[in-house]
Amino acid sequence: MSHLAHCLSVLRHAVAPRRALTVSQWADDHRILSGKQSSERGRWRTARNEILREIMDCFSVNSRVREIVVMKSSQVGVTEAVVNVLGYTMDYAPAPIMVMLPTIDSRDSWKVQKLNPLLQETPAVRDLLGGVKSRDAANRQDLIDFPGGVLFLAGGNSPNSYAQKSVRTIILDDLDRFPEEIGEEGDIITLAEGRTKAFPRHIRAYISTPTVKEGLIDRQWQKSDQRRFHVPCPHCGELQPLEWGGPDVAHGIKYAVLPNGEIVNVRYVCRECGAEILEHHKPQMLAGGAWIAQHPERATRGYHISALYAPIGLGPSWLDLVRGWHAAQENTATLRAFINTNLGEPWEERGESIDPLALLNRLELYPEDSPRRVRSVGIDVQKDRIEVTVIDFGIGEEAWFVDHLIVQGDTAGQDPWDELATELDDLSPDCGGIDSGYNTDQVVAFARRRPWLFVCKGIEGRGKTLVESDEDRKRRLRKKRKKGFSPFLVSDEAAKSLITQRLKLDAPAIGQNQAGYLHFPQEAAFDDEFFAQLTSNRLEEKTVRRRLVREWKQTRVRNEAFDCWKYALAGFRLAKIDPAAREKREAMIKATAMDVPLPPAINRPRRPGGFVKGWKT
Ligand SMILES: [Zn+2]
Repeated sequence: MSHLAHCLSVLRHAVAPRRALTVSQWADDHRILSGKQSSERGRWRTARNEILREIMDCFSVNSRVREIVVMKSSQVGVTEAVVNVLGYTMDYAPAPIMVMLPTIDSRDSWKVQKLNPLLQETPAVRDLLGGVKSRDAANRQDLIDFPGGVLFLAGGNSPNSYAQKSVRTIILDDLDRFPEEIGEEGDIITLAEGRTKAFPRHIRAYISTPTVKEGLIDRQWQKSDQRRFHVPCPHCGELQPLEWGGPDVAHGIKYAVLPNGEIVNVRYVCRECGAEILEHHKPQMLAGGAWIAQHPERATRGYHISALYAPIGLGPSWLDLVRGWHAAQENTATLRAFINTNLGEPWEERGESIDPLALLNRLELYPEDSPRRVRSVGIDVQKDRIEVTVIDFGIGEEAWFVDHLIVQGDTAGQDPWDELATELDDLSPDCGGIDSGYNTDQVVAFARRRPWLFVCKGIEGRGKTLVESDEDRKRRLRKKRKKGFSPFLVSDEAAKSLITQRLKLDAPAIGQNQAGYLHFPQEAAFDDEFFAQLTSNRLEEKTVRRRLVREWKQTRVRNEAFDCWKYALAGFRLAKIDPAAREKREAMIKATAMDVPLPPAINRPRRPGGFVKGWKT
């Protein structure tokens, strides 16, 4: 019987006139759901979950789609759609096909929970494999032979399961759980491309619930045509994708919370007419919906699915989702999980940082006759070297970086200090700050002979000014019992906020001033490493027990350029030299030195009666 069924199936494929069946038609004709893998048992009906139709039909024999990306919430039936594709391939359009999961373990449980019910309970597939063979097939984890093709089941952490295999269709499920680099093949996307390159009419599918922005699935999604399922408003008919919305926008999911915590009045507000849409409108909306691409010119299909589209009875209701959302506000981890698994959106870290490469684009050629401003040096002392940044300060702390030097040598010894002294003589700074966190004795000795150089110490902690105020310093030193050296305290926290804020300022117009702006010259010292160090801090926001917490994170180990800037600014503030007075004096000296002869009086236009009189008339 089973052997006969097998022969008949082979015969059917050989002689039957090819009506070009799509995957969804095949599923409607043949797929039987057992109670095991679905809340509904019996015949599969694509109309029950309309959003899956087009996704499945990308895999049909007549489809021109070669690549498809599905970024989705969990439990929306996409896995069942994949199983339909496998049944279709085995029964109707035989070809080699591979399903790949992140690990061998996840592959094995996927096989038992998702695939075995198809092999055992959908008659078209069960008969195809034959009685005895279907039991073998059910027992074999890595491949299933069927007439005209083979199904490989692979795990990302096991090269044996995918190496050397060539298939027409490859489906990578749970993409964001794969390692970025995989075996000797490089990245997972290259691997998938390699497996299918022998087949011109191949199809590659990347499916996943997203994790983070710029994660594997998000990067594929960004390159796709980005389809969202648009549904008609039952009131005004406007087609629109269902979006969560949130408190800041007018449309999307809205609800009220009673004093006892109960959530009531959950509805969806139409983007177009503002009318309220209730959950019972959903079936007619889904039936009237369509996938609309944001970038129709792109070849790769991208489908985004959130749990807002779950058909009634097949997934969470809108009320379930609002309850989940409300509970998820507790902390960043729960909020992120909700956004990933229910909204199907990648989590974007909220925070502030500066792109160091963008700073390379604003290097300037300083004019040769730049005014002499107040020159400060920021000195950072490490075990094996001293780093110095030279900055000229103008009015409003507008700053012109001049140079960044590195003096090599063991700072416990004398050599680097002698070299530093020579360098500073050449630079003739007006003021400066030096870090005393390392080899403090040498630092103090060096600064003692240079009264313009302030010995500083970086401190942690928030809510402080960059440099400790005179009052705070006096109070602190009064309490201090031991006499002698005491560094000026410089707040790391304040410095991180300040540099981020200042690096974001717009460049001043030519001839204008821009308080706080940082200028960088076209000099070799100002390279990508310098800017990476200068921007090595990132402000991150987290939710802890429903409160938003902001904190700075250092994103790389070396940040000397940032420390040097910090001490140069601290030195400038401590010296209290007024750049305006300095500029005025410089201008006067210049004018005297130039000794420009005045033009002859006869050529000067004069108003009769003088200016004041002329103005009055
Ligand atoms: Zn409407």
